Amino acid sequence: MYVPFVNLEVMHNEIRNEIFNKFMEVYNNNWFILGNEVKSFEEEFADFCNARYCIGCGNGLDALYLILRGYEIGVGDEVIVPSNTYIATSLAVSYAGAKPIFVEPDINSYNMDTDLIEQAITDRTKAIIAVHLYGQPAEMSRINYIAQKHNIKVIEDSAQAHGAIYKNRKTGSLGDAAGFSFYPGKNLGALGDAGAVVTNDEELADKIRAIANYGSRRKYYNRYKGTNSRLDEVQAAILRIKLKQLNKWNEFRDKIAQRYLEGINNSQIVKPHIGDYTTKHAWHLFVVRSEGRDDFQKYLNDSGIGTVIHYPIPMHLQEAYSDMNFTRGDFPIAEKISTEVLSIPLWYGMKEEEIQYVIDTINAWR
Ligand SMILES: *Cc1c(COP(=O)(O)O)cnc(C)c1O
Repeated sequence: MYVPFVNLEVMHNEIRNEIFNKFMEVYNNNWFILGNEVKSFEEEFADFCNARYCIGCGNGLDALYLILRGYEIGVGDEVIVPSNTYIATSLAVSYAGAKPIFVEPDINSYNMDTDLIEQAITDRTKAIIAVHLYGQPAEMSRINYIAQKHNIKVIEDSAQAHGAIYKNRKTGSLGDAAGFSFYPGKNLGALGDAGAVVTNDEELADKIRAIANYGSRRKYYNRYKGTNSRLDEVQAAILRIKLKQLNKWNEFRDKIAQRYLEGINNSQIVKPHIGDYTTKHAWHLFVVRSEGRDDFQKYLNDSGIGTVIHYPIPMHLQEAYSDMNFTRGDFPIAEKISTEVLSIPLWYGMKEEEIQYVIDTINAWR
């Protein structure tokens, strides 16, 4: 049997006609930037997150960057980010001109260890970016508490957590502002690059809307040295159709995750740990951990099961950050995770026999 790591075909086949008809509608409207589809999507996605404002933008990296710009965080400032995340979290900080300060993850949740945040805060710290890694919410109450005490902002990197719920509240509404990515493989994905900022902060929303559009609220009158990062009408129209399916797709992901959690019983394999504050995990990724990970990956690959490592190199060891002069051993938990994690197939439309084959193959390892 062959089980690919990801397959968007089932999902896309189910909405094929609706997407094609909508595409024709946008095509016939001849209005492609900042029109009614974007406006409607922004309202619908803000509603989905139980937040007041949503501003569409070019991608998830830009969403985080725009939030930092909106809060005027830049040169000379520090922003706390996890040492264990996708590099976009940290690059958004660098791109804004500020310095990322890495904080180690908790080995069980893989999210930032909240006991280590305060010692990383200095008088230059302006914000904490909490990543809901793999779809599990970060420990937001504690992060908000620390941030309030030090008068700094809390930014959610929700790129992997559309629809995840923390203590009965949706991600995207848990901090001061949240960045979402709609990269095609995310739980809610466009047919290309797209992203959004979600916030309850009216002033921030208004400012980000301008910064993302050349710093302008009124055409040819430029208040800020802005950028061009806009969600376009075609992607917004597609996202509106997909948003209607998101709860169903996330439920399906959850069913697969429950089958894996119950079925995988190989003592060499550490399964994901679900925090008691997690009301709903978005299961963007199902990540297992094992010593001998590379052998394990090869074994699964030889058995026809696609896997991906999220992520093989922690931030501080990336060549892009060699200027920070970190060495191996500086963030040992992130390093350990990077050598042990492996993401296994989890996608809408997986068949029961495919799920069972993944479980049986994993249980037969060694
Ligand atoms: C995907 C992702 C991003 C970046 O999103 P893009 O749309 O690819 O720019 C940021 N943070 C995390 C955690 C991600 O997984």
